[in-house]
Amino acid sequence: MSTPENVVIIGGGLAGAKTAEALREREYAGAVTLVAAEEQLPYERPPLSKDYLAGKAPFDDAAVHTAEWYTDNRVDLRLGVRATGIDAADHRVTLDDGTALPYDKLVLATGSAVRRLPLDGADAENVHYLRTVEDSDAIRASFGDGKRLVIIGGGWIGLEVASSARAAGTTVTVLEGSSLTLLRVLGDEVARVFAGLHRSNGVDLRTEAKVSGIVTDGGRATGVRLEGGETIPADAIVIGIGVSPVTEIAEAAGLAVDNGVLVDASLRTSDPDVYAVGDIANHDHPVLGHRIRVERWATALNQPAVAAAALLGDDVEYTELPYFFTDQYDLGCEYIGHANGAESEVVIRGDLESREFVAFWLDEHAHIQAAMNVNVWDVIDEIKPLIAERRVVDPKRLADPAVPFARL
Ligand code: NAP
Repeated sequence: MSTPENVVIIGGGLAGAKTAEALREREYAGAVTLVAAEEQLPYERPPLSKDYLAGKAPFDDAAVHTAEWYTDNRVDLRLGVRATGIDAADHRVTLDDGTALPYDKLVLATGSAVRRLPLDGADAENVHYLRTVEDSDAIRASFGDGKRLVIIGGGWIGLEVASSARAAGTTVTVLEGSSLTLLRVLGDEVARVFAGLHRSNGVDLRTEAKVSGIVTDGGRATGVRLEGGETIPADAIVIGIGVSPVTEIAEAAGLAVDNGVLVDASLRTSDPDVYAVGDIANHDHPVLGHRIRVERWATALNQPAVAAAALLGDDVEYTELPYFFTDQYDLGCEYIGHANGAESEVVIRGDLESREFVAFWLDEHAHIQAAMNVNVWDVIDEIKPLIAERRVVDPKRLADPAVPFARL
């Protein structure tokens, strides 16, 4: 394969910036253009619902690189510009500033867009979603003693925002539609730990809460109405009801799309000159043995090195297991692997009550699919091979902290 002269990356989030970095780290000398819809330098999103939101860390800590880095590394960073189409036959990307970029290889890193709540009042100025640094700023401005924040959706965004809001003294209500927050991901036993954590930190966590409307007065939301008639008063509302992969231009370009852009083990799409990384990549995972698409910081961080190597002609595959972490109040945890918590057997090693444990999710053949260490540290590297090698484990020994991971 001849070396490409031109690589275009669409998407200025972590995955896009890391792709540019990986190309230069491999001493790729051709042109690199990074098309970024936001006006900000590419940044990492975890701080937006954690330390940055809590006012504990400046934006600079979240930026992937400084402005100088892009100049020094000859990355043509086009901020505030959106790609509007891909002509795959002609190898050109059109942009909303009326220009077009030719490419030899193209990397799609378009990420996710928030799911919107289709209710009247959801567009009021004090109703927020959380995706960008500006969203995080607006949400932080609604925190404070005596201020009332209502959060619709008890997923990761909802719970991390609740934690930061409580730390600032805000009165917080979380509205979760199902019987327990995080139930699908973690299953009943572990999901209860998180519900207990929030309630013991003063959050009014309502489950089975069906939102029927947002009450407004003069363009501002004043409360959230529930089916059944109750209205919960609010000075601000945060909606965190999930995200969808941004795949429109991939689909319009004729790439295979099905719950994200379909990519092979090397992150190559159905067009051999186009790669996809991060939230949008529905990846044929060689270790897990099935397709997986995860909206995770670690995927955006780690996939680009493989995509860059593959597009430069190396025979490589992306083999990392999905990983994420969360910090809420005094609870810190990491999760590795992938499981449907609600449908898997869970094994606990440690103590749920004191929130110091490792949870494992097993399939019907006693293979470990995923694990989460809660306030227990430095165990991920030992757990990884248990998942990657599809080790069959004895649940009793797995639950016993006296049995070292290496002996399972
Ligand atoms: P999420 O984690 O997928 O959670 C969405 C939540 O909204 C779920 O509890 C869901 O309940 C609920 N929901 C869905 N539709 C609803 C509706 N119409 N009304 C009320 N509730 C509804 O998504 P997210 O919290 O919005 O986060 C967005 C993305 O960022 C996700 O991919 C998430 O994984 C990621 N993120 C990750 C972290 C981390 O890794 N620490 C932190 C923040 C965000 P059901 O499950 O019952 O449908």
